[in-house]
Amino acid sequence: MAEAYKIIDHTYDAVVVGAGGSGLRATMGIAEAGLKTACITKVFPTRSHTVAAQGGIAASLGNNTPDHWSWHMYDTVKGSDWLGDQDAIEYLCREAPQAVYELEHAGVPFSRNDNGTIYQRPFGGHMQNMGEGPPVQRTCAAADRTGHAMLHALYQQSLKYDADFFIEYFALDLIMENGVCRGVIAMCMDDGSIHRFRAHSVVLATGGYGRTFQSATSAHTCTGDGGGMVLRAGLQLQDMEFVQFHPTGIYGAGVLITEGARGEGGYLTNSEGERFMERYAPSAKDLASRDVVSRSMAMEIREGRGVGKEKDHIYLHLDHIDPKVLAQRLPGITETGKIFAGVDLTRQALPVVPTVHYNMGGIPTNYHGEVVRLKDGDPESVVPGLFAVGEAACVSVHGANRLGSNSLIDLVVFGRATGIRLKETLKPGKAHDPLPKGSEEMSLTRLDHFRNAKGGSPTAAIRTDMQKTMQRHCAVFRTQELMEEGIEHMDKVYARMEDIHVSDRSLIWNTDLIETLELDNLISQALVTIRSAANRKESRGAHMHEDFPERDDANWMKHTVATFDGWGGKGGATEIGYRPVHDYTLTDEIDYIKPKKRVY
Ligand SMILES: Cc1cc2nc3c(=O)[nH]c(=O)nc-3n(C[C@H](O)[C@H](O)[C@H](O)COP(=O)(O)OP(=O)(O)OC[C@H]3O[C@@H](n4cnc5c(N)ncnc54)[C@H](O)[C@@H]3O)c2cc1C
Repeated sequence: MAEAYKIIDHTYDAVVVGAGGSGLRATMGIAEAGLKTACITKVFPTRSHTVAAQGGIAASLGNNTPDHWSWHMYDTVKGSDWLGDQDAIEYLCREAPQAVYELEHAGVPFSRNDNGTIYQRPFGGHMQNMGEGPPVQRTCAAADRTGHAMLHALYQQSLKYDADFFIEYFALDLIMENGVCRGVIAMCMDDGSIHRFRAHSVVLATGGYGRTFQSATSAHTCTGDGGGMVLRAGLQLQDMEFVQFHPTGIYGAGVLITEGARGEGGYLTNSEGERFMERYAPSAKDLASRDVVSRSMAMEIREGRGVGKEKDHIYLHLDHIDPKVLAQRLPGITETGKIFAGVDLTRQALPVVPTVHYNMGGIPTNYHGEVVRLKDGDPESVVPGLFAVGEAACVSVHGANRLGSNSLIDLVVFGRATGIRLKETLKPGKAHDPLPKGSEEMSLTRLDHFRNAKGGSPTAAIRTDMQKTMQRHCAVFRTQELMEEGIEHMDKVYARMEDIHVSDRSLIWNTDLIETLELDNLISQALVTIRSAANRKESRGAHMHEDFPERDDANWMKHTVATFDGWGGKGGATEIGYRPVHDYTLTDEIDYIKPKKRVY
């Protein structure tokens, strides 16, 4: 196979795949440690999905209300519905303020208070006094374009360091040898040349896989390629059943209206004009955590109190807020409302509906960013040479449900942690062993298979089939029957991959081929997601199982880990195992936060 493709070899100490917030932060830290570093990205760095983040980044600076990192930790543990690992959550919340100051010094133009400090807004599920309340103002924002500001600052900074960028290169597969990651294979999309990167460490920072669903706030590029690579390498993905639906995607378009809109005073109403969140979450109301609000909205719609002709969505009101405040604090969504819903926010309500927004699950890691697996009964077995950060990873700090503004902070805290770990464990310029013979074989066989696929099903048709199935069978409400039907259907969708049709055979900007490779990554994760969901017989966080409506700590306070034996005609079987939730903290400055019923 190698003869058919031009292969160019590279050698680095470390290679980062992905140039979103997490990938850039990792690249900076690793390069700063003096390690020879490459960053590979399929889109130009500043086009990564991080650019779309609106609402902000959580850290207990205490600028607008009193705050403490332990309060942030409590809220994150509670938000996770006690599925988050408390050592990792402690690390996140303790390091968060420092990480935000670092961004400030790197040039992120945060919105300001009159006294010059960083402005912080309230966000769902973030409270004062160890969950007791009142709501805290913890989310640092650059108006409603925080991700944009952050990603541009990080990209500019990363150019200062001596890292090589491979832009518009598509990573195909990991190079694994005896359970150790030895590098990664990528294709230059411009000319189809194949690049084999030999490295002591590979960091996957490839983002989420929101595009498995029909309606998602994430970019079309969010296809979870890192997760796909990990599954093909025979490794596990963790907690994939936990998919976050954001309460306020614009009806029809799926475009996000930040939770910051409710943070600034926005509220939801049903067809009777009722502020129904008061019934579901009497104290936090519209600022309850996302799973709670999404479920309440779905309930209103199911009970016939949705708005619009089909009674299938809900109204978000911002029309009572001073237009000056809207212009200053939420300029982007004012524009979004106009373009995608044809609504003037200052005078009309916006039509919104719960929309897939974030993947809590992903590649399991410890708080250093090292990928771990369940192996021979050891749940903490480190995969040498492999790291994962950002939405692609599952540390797990978000557990069964992520709090708003906790992802951006996760990107920078754990991106940075990876650099620190590599600085401790890897000597710059360490000698490399030769790569195993045929290290490119699997990637190229797969590439060639799809490039020449002559079946009867176009990629887009199979993708739509998958997205509709996942949306119908694995969304906000789940029943055993619905999910099992969904699995049956997804098996059929997967079988269609044998019959796929790619019409462009060239190697020059072949988007048909790239989308097919992305679909292959998506579909394995869709299957793992719905199988993990049908397997979990309880309700926790984003996973609401109607046949088992209660959380069941005795049997289910554990992480799901799942494999997918797909590539190479193996049929696509999944094996499910479990890793224990870390019921210990990092230091003795805080005790394990004991499980409680989660009410807002
Ligand atoms: C609309 C929207 C608004 C949001 N708002 C907020 C918010 O206000 N606060 C908050 O905390 N969170 C928010 N989130 C969530 C948060 O923005 C994301 O979880 C986060 O930005 C993901 O960052 P990342 O670094 O993991 O990946 P991404 O930013 O998605 O970047 C992925 C990178 O991987 C690269 N890549 C992927 N596959 C390949 C491949 N095969 N080969 C080479 N490169 C590859 C891409 O080129 C890209 O550079 C929001 C999300 C969305 C969708």
